[in-house]
Amino acid sequence: MVFDCAIIGAGPAGLSAALTLKNHGKNVIWFGSKTLSDKVRKAEMITNYPGLANVTGGQLAAAFTAQIEAAGLEITDCMATSVIPMGARYAVIAGPDFYETETVILAVGAAQTRTLPRENEFLGRGVSYCATCDGGLYRGKTVAVICGNPRFEHEVRYLAGLAAKVWFLPTYKTDVSLGENVTLLKKGVTGLLGEARVTGLTLSDGETLAADGLFCLRDAVAPGTLCAGLEMTNGHIGVDRAQKTSLPRIFAAGDCTGRPYQYAKAVGEGNVAAHGVLEALGK
Ligand code: FAD
Repeated sequence: MVFDCAIIGAGPAGLSAALTLKNHGKNVIWFGSKTLSDKVRKAEMITNYPGLANVTGGQLAAAFTAQIEAAGLEITDCMATSVIPMGARYAVIAGPDFYETETVILAVGAAQTRTLPRENEFLGRGVSYCATCDGGLYRGKTVAVICGNPRFEHEVRYLAGLAAKVWFLPTYKTDVSLGENVTLLKKGVTGLLGEARVTGLTLSDGETLAADGLFCLRDAVAPGTLCAGLEMTNGHIGVDRAQKTSLPRIFAAGDCTGRPYQYAKAVGEGNVAAHGVLEALGK
């Protein structure tokens, strides 16, 4: 099946785009977390969103969820790890699957993803963003996992079932035990070691760790890693007034395109991007 649009990111920008495309009867695949954006749920009190005076982030998230259900929208609970050009179309890689689409909307939030030095160099040569896709390559080996959110811990457990040894490096506070062969390390990762492939990591305390591979399980993939060749402006995805990026039929909306980081801007840009998609589809 070829989708009309792949929306990446289930925050306010992605939701706004999804609702507009759904209203126009478009066939959309929408990637993100079914729990929506942490940046919505964690807001203490929102006083600047039209129509909803003084709501908590939890209340806004509940309203969004109700609207998603009422509209019959479905979130594919998966990180998109790559957008690859395929002639006039794109393939979006998410988990072990790939999805063909006419257009893409990037609604991935502000890029908080600082990549490690040499991370891009080692992509496919020891660095992976998806345990279910690449875990099988590390059967009986040693892997390290940078885990950015407890919701990815099931992927660490999955790796523990394949690898001989897993170094678990969460970026949040936890004492969770994920398996007999999983060692929790409360240290940061500062770099990668290796020549042709990853052979280990350097850690914040100056120590080194031997590993055959590194899994980076983060809430976001840096836009330039997600879409090769995407033009960035001061750390944000460059867009025009129609939310078009530098790549044909790829649009971007919300915090990922720049400040101010606000719900109203995200929702507005999501809507404009959806209209850009409708125009690009010409149907
Ligand atoms: P986000 O909300 O960041 O959503 C992007 C989503 O995309 C994330 O869930 C991310 O995990 C997901 N994603 C990223 N990459 C991928 C991928 N490769 N595959 C799948 N999913 C992916 N704004 C206001 O206007 N008023 C306020 O009162 C306010 N209070 C705030 C309080 C807090 C504590 C914070 C943190 C922010 C607040 N903001 C407020 C800002 C507001 O939250 C953001 O501007 C808004 O959430 C941006 O929406 P977005 O859709 O662009 O991005």
